[in-house]
Amino acid sequence: MLLISYDPVSGWSVPEIKPYGPLALDPMSSCLQYATTIFEGMKAYIGPDGTPRLFRPEQNMARLERSAERVALPPFNSAELLTLIKRLVTLEKRWIPTLPGYSLYIRPTIIGTRAALGVAASDHAMIYVVLSPTGPYFRTGPKPLSLLGVSDTVRAWPGGTGGHKLGLNYSPGFLPQRLAAQQGYDQILWLFGEDKRVTEVGAMNVFVVVKRDDGNWDVITPALDGTILPGVTRASCLALTGAHPERTTLPNLPAALKLHTHERPLTMPELFAWQQEGRLLEAFGVGTAVIVAPIGRIGFEGNDLVLPKHQAGLGPLGSALWERITEIQRGQFEWEGWSVTCE
Ligand SMILES: *Cc1c(COP(=O)(O)O)cnc(C)c1O
Repeated sequence: MLLISYDPVSGWSVPEIKPYGPLALDPMSSCLQYATTIFEGMKAYIGPDGTPRLFRPEQNMARLERSAERVALPPFNSAELLTLIKRLVTLEKRWIPTLPGYSLYIRPTIIGTRAALGVAASDHAMIYVVLSPTGPYFRTGPKPLSLLGVSDTVRAWPGGTGGHKLGLNYSPGFLPQRLAAQQGYDQILWLFGEDKRVTEVGAMNVFVVVKRDDGNWDVITPALDGTILPGVTRASCLALTGAHPERTTLPNLPAALKLHTHERPLTMPELFAWQQEGRLLEAFGVGTAVIVAPIGRIGFEGNDLVLPKHQAGLGPLGSALWERITEIQRGQFEWEGWSVTCE
């Protein structure tokens, strides 16, 4: 693990890479009492030339800086942190699995370590980065998720913290997730407001594909209004979808097909209406862990909205994005410098 600590007198310490192990923390540490904990999720892959690669890591570093600012943790130099993460990954390169679908998960974390009774910003902190090999989210190919639309508990709200990767955003979702699982659903579809706006799926951003009257497709994801986590996968899906067919063609999609991307509110009644008109083509969740996960059905107020079944599990756009993003991550397809080597 990589470890760096901060105190208000000497600033950030000399970084250390040392064996994975427990931390010693004062029981009154800010992170333990007030959840002053922020994190990132990234992955490393081995490229065709054998060098480890990261996917758009500067995006994760920028998001980590914003998270630190939001909970008043001390600022840090994210370019320097990225250099250290590259060093750590290079050192631990033998742990990066090369099988398709496998990768090395990277978890940069910053905790507030101020030990005091007062409810105030933490002027002491610790950055640590740990690694773990991970396998594919779906062991036997993508299996469409069943979602329970939930609006009596909310993940995020206007003016809240849902747009940042703060530890405190996640534990309140554990109980609703358990209740949804007891009813036979895989994940929660977080809804918000009177109009039942779709926000996120578990800890993934969400996309739907709707057929237009002219036969082309609308690709819709909720706008970043502060309740939506600005996912790197979300941004990448929007960019690649927006580039088809003018700047690149996505795998197995016709070059004549136009994809119109929209970042805008998306409501449950709209989904039901499109489904009834036969225009709802596919829906999927996106995030670093899964890349693209198909949505099979959505339980909402006693009704099940069933999405079209696709042979590969994922629909045409979902599989095109999954294929193209994994190719870019592994250095098999060059796109706008998104894949960054560590050495
Ligand atoms: C991390 C996360 C995502 C996905 O972000 P990526 O950068 O694509 O991994 C989506 N929603 C929530 C709530 C998250 O925490």
